[in-house]
Amino acid sequence: MLPATGTQRIRVRVTGTVQGVGFRPHVFRLATELGLGGFVMNDEHGVLAEVEGEAAQLERFTERLRREAPPLAAIEHLDVAVVPARSERAFAIVTSEHAGDPDALVSPDTATCESCLAELFDPLDRRFRYPFVNCTDCGPRFTIVRGVPYDRPLTTMAGFEMCARCRSEYDDPRDRRFHAQPNACPECGPVTRLVNRDGSPVSLNGAQDDVEAAARSLLDGLILAVKGIGGYHLACRADSERAVATLRSRKHREDKPFALMVHDVAAANALVELGDDERSLLTTRARPIVIAPRRTGAMIAPSVAPLSRELGVMLPYSPLHQLLLADVGVPLVMTSGNVSDEPIAYQDQDARERLGEIADRFLVHDRPIETRTDDSVLRSATVAGDRGMLVLRRSRGYVPHSIDLPVDAVRHVLACGAELKNTFCLAKGTRAWVGPHVGDLSNYETLRSFQQGIAHFERLFAVEPAIVAHDLHPRYLSTAYALERDGVEHVAVQHHHAHLAACLAEHGETGPAVGAIYDGTGYGPDGTVWGGELLCGDLRGFERAGHLHPVRLPGGEQAIREPWRMACSWLAAALGEHPAVPPALAASVEPRRWEAVAELVRSGVASPLTSSAGRLFDAVAALCGLRSRVNYEGQAATELEAAADHSEGGAYPLPLRAGVLDPRETVLAAREDLARDVSPALVSARFHNSLAAATARACAQAAEAHATATVVLSGGVFQNALLLDRTSASLAAEGLRVLVPRRLPPNDGGISYGQAAVATALT
Ligand code: ZN
Ligand code: ZN
Ligand code: FE
Repeated sequence: MLPATGTQRIRVRVTGTVQGVGFRPHVFRLATELGLGGFVMNDEHGVLAEVEGEAAQLERFTERLRREAPPLAAIEHLDVAVVPARSERAFAIVTSEHAGDPDALVSPDTATCESCLAELFDPLDRRFRYPFVNCTDCGPRFTIVRGVPYDRPLTTMAGFEMCARCRSEYDDPRDRRFHAQPNACPECGPVTRLVNRDGSPVSLNGAQDDVEAAARSLLDGLILAVKGIGGYHLACRADSERAVATLRSRKHREDKPFALMVHDVAAANALVELGDDERSLLTTRARPIVIAPRRTGAMIAPSVAPLSRELGVMLPYSPLHQLLLADVGVPLVMTSGNVSDEPIAYQDQDARERLGEIADRFLVHDRPIETRTDDSVLRSATVAGDRGMLVLRRSRGYVPHSIDLPVDAVRHVLACGAELKNTFCLAKGTRAWVGPHVGDLSNYETLRSFQQGIAHFERLFAVEPAIVAHDLHPRYLSTAYALERDGVEHVAVQHHHAHLAACLAEHGETGPAVGAIYDGTGYGPDGTVWGGELLCGDLRGFERAGHLHPVRLPGGEQAIREPWRMACSWLAAALGEHPAVPPALAASVEPRRWEAVAELVRSGVASPLTSSAGRLFDAVAALCGLRSRVNYEGQAATELEAAADHSEGGAYPLPLRAGVLDPRETVLAAREDLARDVSPALVSARFHNSLAAATARACAQAAEAHATATVVLSGGVFQNALLLDRTSASLAAEGLRVLVPRRLPPNDGGISYGQAAVATALT
């Protein structure tokens, strides 16, 4: 505490996300308003200020500094120390001599703020309809950063020289654009162009600018490639079946739902049912895609999400999107700019080549994108009775915010993640930075983006990994990359242990806990394919307390693409004999192929054992006749969940024997129900209920045996909101504490952070 009266000088140190977010001008305005002297600067730890004046004013200063931080700032610590006074009356922003501060963090890209929006739509403003309007409170950040310090020359804005008016805003501490690195105007900044496939300009034909001309093209039913913040989208009007179906066929995407962009919350509400969580999430600065239940009669083309009860919706997050949506006045499909499973295009030449066959026209601009960053995806879920959000993909708007580690990474760590939905993670001290969604690490393009991403993050956050963590799977590209790094200590982390550790660590815990980790595939230490695991452990290690009864994966990878194979495998396991083709599959599976697969199951040839929970969902979905072949990962399970009648409370037997959850009777009971013409809606619900109850029972037993009351539910299968709701409710009823991933996805997007936590705890 400060002495009550007289002139004092204090030194204030602020850490957290405080650089590049308007913190210094904020300090400047506050100090000048309160009549205080001194200075403020960025340094290697964050922001440092010395402030001098009447003690009472200084009290007010520190109090308001805590309370009124700029919107993009996130203060972690604010320390105050008294230093000798220097009779300084004026206040100044001092330029830092330090070579920038990796610790002070680059902030994520942020949706256009209210002040900038007002200018965007004000015909008298000099930035009227300027698609790149931004200020210290909003605009691109992470995707334009080339290096640190976060300063214009080290961003993709380096090539644009500010005009006199922009420069004076940039230099004026009282201005909203003081040190806004991407500051620009129509006179000096980036420009948009609407071009044909061959690069020739599209005639404006009376439109006031390229964006309005683009909107007219969309209204005419054309497909546009639109360059956004983290990459290209493919866009078309969502209410035209012809346009959406054309986009689907050109993109070679059979039935995976397309995301939508709508003008505002009201427009979103016309398409999907929004709870309070969804509403506030839609309008957060991160502007993710929010998945919500589709309204009956929603005015969108059937091809947008052919087999889904839900829709993914987002609001415009850049001024370019704002103008486009205002001009078209209808919802747009906004799907990632790629062909089928390739990574999203973000470089102009590459986009031209890859999207040239899909898009009729290109709405492009000349501000380069440094790092490819997909839209983030979230949905709400009920866990132990409480509503909350679940992250399915964490990328634009969230990356590169750091996530704390509950253990101190004294030696720096790189964790390379898994194979599907790959992310990487860097850690030092108690901070971890999880990179943007890389995607499925299966081709040259994704591998390159993985390698470049790691190098970029190492520079941005000054991390020099001494420890490199990776999955146990010997053939993952991420494992190969990890093992190629020389002069480091390698730590192999079992896949499901990483899932468990990731969830514990993001909640600031180190265990012990029981984890029910359900997913598609993960390499087990015994060489079999794990995926329905009951683990008991902490960050340092685990023991396999139980698992799903293992069955054959007939034909290996092929069984993942063809769920009917898993139906065959589970029936064979349950009956102990050659199963007949179930009626629901008779139309889609030739008897000859069924027999061949049954033989694979019997002999075990090319058919490893798996305890995968994902494959059990596949089997039941196929038995119900919902899906015999999938077009994207997780499709059968998603459709089984969507089919379930939530009002159904019944369940099938699912015995627990010495830690092994045995769904063989469950599968037979489902088959009997279906033979009696019970609807797939009821069968699906009863299956969910059975698995939820058995899982809770098994967790409770394991928790008691290991003297813990904490249960983690994670793995990609727990993206299933029905399973999560029922399992967590049963666990809570047993008096157990349930933890689920909140900041990172339960799927393999969270693996890298879990590996980092394990490696840190072990070394
Ligand atoms: Zn703004
Ligand atoms: Zn300008
Ligand atoms: Fe997994």
